[in-house]
Amino acid sequence: MCGIVGYVGDRKAFPILVNGLKRLEYRGYDSSGVALAQEGEIALYKRQGMVKAMEELALSNDVSGSTGIAHTRWATHGEPSEVNAHPHQSNERIFIVHNGIIENYLELKDELADKGYAFTSKTDSELIAHLLDSYLEAGSSLLEATKQLKDKLQGAYAI
Ligand code: GLU
Repeated sequence: MCGIVGYVGDRKAFPILVNGLKRLEYRGYDSSGVALAQEGEIALYKRQGMVKAMEELALSNDVSGSTGIAHTRWATHGEPSEVNAHPHQSNERIFIVHNGIIENYLELKDELADKGYAFTSKTDSELIAHLLDSYLEAGSSLLEATKQLKDKLQGAYAI
């Protein structure tokens, strides 16, 4: 169980995302994370523990982007740690947050490892980013890739 929130609009995304995480914190407080699009790049912020640590990041970083996703985690696969915190990314172009469990994750991880994808976390979630990336690599549009993803993943989840 976890909390996921996203924002796209004209306002600064970071405070809106962190506010969302605070409201969702009862759903998981192992770690929190934010992916923020800013000036053509995506910055990834992750902290183990309570959302307060994420809030403090705003004091020492330029977090003025207006598009982002965020996650507060209740670990099911992989210990609570910064490396296992969401968002997870692939090839610096796909960033995902995930709530739930991917039941066929071991099989999918093996398939993706065979295609050359390297895993940095112990979660069942990171493969989602790599799987989506692999469909884009094969020529699918983002919409097509998302449909392919839905057909491949087994379990109960929100992404
Ligand atoms: N299964 C994922 C993980 O362990 C997501 C857990 C959650 O829903 O917080 O990272």
